[in-house]
Amino acid sequence: MSKSLLPEKDYMLSELAKRLKLKESTVLKKAKKYMKEKYPDRPELAKDDRLALFMFALSNGIEFRVRTPLPAAEPKKIAELEVGQKNVEVLGYAVGIAERPTAKGTRQIIFTLVDDTGYVHTRVWGENALKMWEEVGVEEGDPILITGAVVDELQASGKTLKILGQYVEVVKLEKDEVDLPPLEEIGKAKIAELEDNTFVQIEGLVVRADVRSYVGCPECDSKLPCDVGEAVTCERCGSDVVATERQWMLLVVSDTTGDVGVRVPPGLNANVAIGDIIRVMGIYSNEIVRAISIRKVYGPESKSEEPKVIRIEEKKEEREEEKEEVEVETPEEIVEEVEEEIEEVTSEGEGEALETELTAVEQRILTVLETYGGLLQKSELFGILTDYKKDELEKTLQSMKEKGLINMDESEIWTESS
Ligand SMILES: [Zn+2]
Repeated sequence: MSKSLLPEKDYMLSELAKRLKLKESTVLKKAKKYMKEKYPDRPELAKDDRLALFMFALSNGIEFRVRTPLPAAEPKKIAELEVGQKNVEVLGYAVGIAERPTAKGTRQIIFTLVDDTGYVHTRVWGENALKMWEEVGVEEGDPILITGAVVDELQASGKTLKILGQYVEVVKLEKDEVDLPPLEEIGKAKIAELEDNTFVQIEGLVVRADVRSYVGCPECDSKLPCDVGEAVTCERCGSDVVATERQWMLLVVSDTTGDVGVRVPPGLNANVAIGDIIRVMGIYSNEIVRAISIRKVYGPESKSEEPKVIRIEEKKEEREEEKEEVEVETPEEIVEEVEEEIEEVTSEGEGEALETELTAVEQRILTVLETYGGLLQKSELFGILTDYKKDELEKTLQSMKEKGLINMDESEIWTESS
């Protein structure tokens, strides 16, 4: 943990330059001169930039926040947090940090705090807390210690940790000094092992990627009743914005143990396509992973724009017909919608031969085939579906061939369309 309780040098420097209307280099010179003159027999004090800037600021009537030393008490585990608790001290990693205006249009930072026992939605709001948050400079994945927070129940997100008020403190910790497993290890699981209402990290192959587009506010993602490119004032957050194309993505991700739907909210900018291998961090609930962050492990850096544009055009037409459909969604609505979409996803796309019910293994085989463009070496399939026995797969393939679901010879499997 950093020994200094004063703000970062760069923060004080830029803040002082702004307030005193001076260049940063001038501010630093003046600060050092001030210290030399005030403490002529202690030259080492003028050499400490942080100290010099802090004291120089005070002499100009500007008081930067000094962090209060940490109390010795053990912080709570996230699983121990209960609605109604006040003055809470809790330690965890901050993930999915984003600025989201509230419904009243005031500034707010949201993120998810995770430790090895659970997760909690967290919001920073109010002038004091936001200023403190900026001074601390928390970045994605940083371990932090929060003191003086409140646990509340909010309609939009359920149990929520609120960072607000004058006495709340956030301290950024060093990764190797916290008594927690590394963030990469927390919630790491195979798809078959996912447990409801937990923070999870999975890695898998994208076998399906559906995009749903709407015209929305780039600040708060609410739907806007206008065309892309129009300048409007967003009714929800009050910002003057240029309406942009916003997208929800629904992915189906497979690892060798199973498949799961992954919901990617607008703003995550995942740029993910079928065939990519991705690492997803998110909350698993009602059989969907709601992504907090997505990282591509394998796949082209950037996709060609062309198919995406066509897709958006298609979606635009759809939107004309179902104008009422894309509203700002509550989590419950999102879950419902995703469930519907998952149904669509699993029933669509295999053609008309699929009137009969498919077994799980048949479904897996078709999904893998689709991913590889409808043609696959038998040995490749066995290599992918290692959780099934080879003779079991052979038998299934034979019966699928008889049902007309696939074609097959000694070494290859293919679908009608390829
Ligand atoms: Zn807005």
